[in-house]
Amino acid sequence: MPHLTDHPTNGEFASPLLAWWEANGRRDLPWQNPRTPYRVWVSEVMLQQTQVATVVPYFVRFVQRFPDIEALAAAELDPVLHLWSGLGYYARARNLHRTARIVVREHAGGFPATAEEIEALPGIGRSTAAAIVAQAYDRRAPILDGNVKRVLARQHRVAGHITSAVTLAKLWKLADALTPQDRAADYTQAVMDLGATVCRRRPVCTVCPVRTTCQAYASGAVDRYPERATSRPKRLERRRFFVLTTPDGACFVEQRAPEGIWGGLWSPPERPADLSVETFLAHSGFDPGAVREIRAGTDLRHGFSHFDLVAEPIHVRLRTTPPEVRAPPESQESRGRWIVPGQHELGLSAVAAKLLDSITPERGPS
Ligand code: SF4
Repeated sequence: MPHLTDHPTNGEFASPLLAWWEANGRRDLPWQNPRTPYRVWVSEVMLQQTQVATVVPYFVRFVQRFPDIEALAAAELDPVLHLWSGLGYYARARNLHRTARIVVREHAGGFPATAEEIEALPGIGRSTAAAIVAQAYDRRAPILDGNVKRVLARQHRVAGHITSAVTLAKLWKLADALTPQDRAADYTQAVMDLGATVCRRRPVCTVCPVRTTCQAYASGAVDRYPERATSRPKRLERRRFFVLTTPDGACFVEQRAPEGIWGGLWSPPERPADLSVETFLAHSGFDPGAVREIRAGTDLRHGFSHFDLVAEPIHVRLRTTPPEVRAPPESQESRGRWIVPGQHELGLSAVAAKLLDSITPERGPS
């Protein structure tokens, strides 16, 4: 029979967890070798809302290009967003860049070492700050990311919706009680690994090293924890993307405003779904006489957390390369530039990257 207590000591939880992690945990992740505060910070920000397997190649490319915080602070935002393209949640990249400049300016390039100082930086919450302290400095700091919330809610049958303040307060208390005094970095990695690989949404309890203390497992109620809100159907939003291309393979892109989901990223002009090509050209300063072909592309669908976007591409091929290739048109609606896909250092939204991939090269100007 499983041994249950209302409040297992951190040894009852941490010891079998650490033993399991030594045999099964992830110890060769690129940010673990070498494990510097800079690399841990970059990885923790990338890992917010993104799985390890997706993060690894992005992390490797990022630290190759920006090996330390000074290099990141000295960079423009465009190449930072370029290396983030496809990873999503782009505010993370903008905050990373802002933070690098703050650390270089206010901390002489030395990454802060206390959770309070780290949490004061842009885009870093309580759990991320603690994870950085534990992993970069090997100091005790309880974490409560999405994986740990799931593990602890099941271990202790914590009722209540996972985002409610009362539930979160209970979970933070448990996280603190279960975190051992020693081996802060290993324990932090171990509990995150358990949530990511064993205590997943559909858990594999048969191989779980802490099932003897798991109250949800003992009572056959694993699928009741953590409690989730019933998801509402997402609204659908339709937008038109004008993909202007020149005979020599350039595509026109505009930069989005710095805030918002795709803030600072570049994309073929996005407009309301009912805007005609003629109106778009007139408002954007392009000569309608230079258009050789207009063709509707295949709709693309992209899911966000609150809505689904249907992107309707309108491909507009120009006869000649307009002079704006060298001097972008300036008008009320259109401030952009021409780029050749694969030969630029701009950040592209996921839809923009797909649209640029879909451009078929022309054989030559007609
Ligand atoms: S026994 Fe199952 S539900 Fe409980 S912590 Fe382990 S994997 Fe999660």
